[in-house]
Amino acid sequence: MDELIIDVRQNEYTGRERSPHVPWSPEEIARDAAAARDAGASIAHFHARDPLTGAPSTDPAQYCEIARAIRASSDAVVLPTLGAGVSDDLDVRIGHVVRMGREPATRAELAPLDLASTNVSFWDARAGRFVTEDYVYRNPVAVLRALARGVEAAGARPMAVAWNVGSLRLLEPLIALGVLREPLYLELTLTGGGVLDGHPPTERGLEALLDFLPGGLDLEWGVLCFGASLLDLADAVLERGGHLALGLGDHPYEELGKPTNAEVVARAVERGRAHGREPASPQQVRERLGLAPA
Ligand code: ZN
Repeated sequence: MDELIIDVRQNEYTGRERSPHVPWSPEEIARDAAAARDAGASIAHFHARDPLTGAPSTDPAQYCEIARAIRASSDAVVLPTLGAGVSDDLDVRIGHVVRMGREPATRAELAPLDLASTNVSFWDARAGRFVTEDYVYRNPVAVLRALARGVEAAGARPMAVAWNVGSLRLLEPLIALGVLREPLYLELTLTGGGVLDGHPPTERGLEALLDFLPGGLDLEWGVLCFGASLLDLADAVLERGGHLALGLGDHPYEELGKPTNAEVVARAVERGRAHGREPASPQQVRERLGLAPA
């Protein structure tokens, strides 16, 4: 796809110490998604958060409220998290997507399946210590299968998230088993800052993944960069035909001052245009990926 898919990664579990504009409440997330959409994003990715403290929330009602609010002010593709980092309990991980699927106004359209189990450890280089030492993000095949089944039953489509070469080797078997479907949307995770568990956010880190992207699959691939700037790598991604998934959830983008997500998206649009790629509309994304109309 020539047009550039921009997935705005709105908030993850980011605090406001470095990033005062990271949205937490449903209204903030919806306003942020609409502004990012106006700036050129076509997909809105969000995590529910406590509106006052920013603590992670798994409350299905809150996810429904967010989706409803996003749809009231924008046509962005709705992409909630699938409980990353919050719980190993399957019902908790997918409960909100199931509930969202009960009504067209709250339905999720995509939901991320992380195709690897991995440490997620934050190394604080200045203090010389790991901030987290015991956290493992668990995604065995049986869990992927169950999550995919739940996502499909809720009227959404699993998107694939690759953390490493092993994730990419799983794509064909998972498509053969019907866990994933073509046309597939795939995001490649790079990790920077103090997160050392993924490929580094460099051309070599990206190339190492792309070398093992199976040929012959009907897919669109994008790149996200957890813990560092994706803008630094945007040209390398765009040159190779990839899409961009970025926002304040991954990195405060202090290089730009104290930006909003829309301002970060605007920079991604500039990079895309420099490569002759106009931002894709949400409708173009739905058509390309075969998603049900919103
Ligand atoms: Zn997320």
